[in-house]
Amino acid sequence: MGEILDLSHVRLSDRPLVVCDVDDVVLHFAAPFQDFLLAGGHELIPRSFRLTGNIVARETQEALEATDVRNLIESFVEVQETYQVPFDHVVETLSDLSSEADVVFLTAMPPRYREPRRRLLDRLGLEFPLVASEEPKGPILRKLHGTRGQPCVFIDDMVHNLQSVQDHVPECLVLHMMPDSELHLLAPKAGDGVPRAMDWPHAADLIRDHFRKAAK
Ligand SMILES: [Mg+2]
Repeated sequence: MGEILDLSHVRLSDRPLVVCDVDDVVLHFAAPFQDFLLAGGHELIPRSFRLTGNIVARETQEALEATDVRNLIESFVEVQETYQVPFDHVVETLSDLSSEADVVFLTAMPPRYREPRRRLLDRLGLEFPLVASEEPKGPILRKLHGTRGQPCVFIDDMVHNLQSVQDHVPECLVLHMMPDSELHLLAPKAGDGVPRAMDWPHAADLIRDHFRKAAK
């Protein structure tokens, strides 16, 4: 908190806007984070949809304190390039969409961790602007999109982020997209009227359909 939100590197054209979360939407998080934990003698036991309280030391099976969980997440972020891989079809789908829309990544992490994520996305050919911020996503999207009349789409695995965008950018189509990880099966369900994109080809259909309707 208290971070300064810097959007100066995001230059939008006069086209529709597609804003994507990264973890568990573009890059796998739940599965590689479990691999990372196991390598360090810890384990995630999904008993509820949260990390704190569900990460245990393997030896004692005792839950780690919140600060230790936070440190593990931050360590994972630093080594993400050796663990995180993209979801199927995300690279070609976003590349195709970028011929008719601006694509922006919005990742909930402290701005100081932007660099390893930037490198990883670039290496995968996902060279779209990246905003790293722990501020609520709705107000960020409002600032990005402003009062433009172009269609806007937001994709995230976390229901509270979808809700934040619905609250602040009601004209934006929100899509729920999440892996079938054990953890996500315990996640809150998206509200009525929030479509779930089952994979990236399906997301592309929903996004293009929204663009078509907006153009009428
Ligand atoms: Mg996510």
